[in-house]
Amino acid sequence: MQFSDVEGDLSEVLLTQEEIHEKIAVMARQIEIDYAGEKVLLVGVLRGAVMVMADLARELALPIEMDWMAVSSYGAGTQSSGVVRILKDLDSDLEGRKVLIVEDIIDSGLTLSWLLGNLRSRGAASVEICTLLRKPDAAKVEVDVKYVGFDIPNAFVVGYGLDFAEKYRNLRGIAVLAPHVYA
Ligand code: 5GP
Repeated sequence: MQFSDVEGDLSEVLLTQEEIHEKIAVMARQIEIDYAGEKVLLVGVLRGAVMVMADLARELALPIEMDWMAVSSYGAGTQSSGVVRILKDLDSDLEGRKVLIVEDIIDSGLTLSWLLGNLRSRGAASVEICTLLRKPDAAKVEVDVKYVGFDIPNAFVVGYGLDFAEKYRNLRGIAVLAPHVYA
């Protein structure tokens, strides 16, 4: 889906498909250097990270495995609460593995800091984070994020896996959702 297909719902285009793909390639080159000779386990957080995972995994010139987790951050509307519940756990054993969490966005950082602690407690050799987007709020919680694509303004964004009420995930780029849509 293109921006023009939902134009009235968007207030500003933030990132085009091309800009996203260029950035993912840059992140992949760094990951290839940092994990040279290793088999990385990419852990995607459902459902938002599906697109990032699909593009990053194909871009990486490294042997990888993929696994998925689904978590829910309790909270009303467009705010995360930090209370996290596992809806679907990993299928893989993390003992001794080099794990790279692949995320779409870090907002408050509450979900990820919880996830980081949870995965680190399972005996992984290392657990790092790669996120396409990060909002300024993330700086308020201590989350050590190794790879960040873009720092974006504090607005609610959709597209490229990110939804509002399950809509807009298939938008090719990323845009700010117009307030009238969620008001
Ligand atoms: P955090 O715990 O970092 O505040 O929130 C993380 C989760 O909230 C993300 O994985 C994502 O699902 C959701 N989220 C945070 N900001 C946005 C946003 O701007 N747009 C969308 N669609 N989801 C967001």
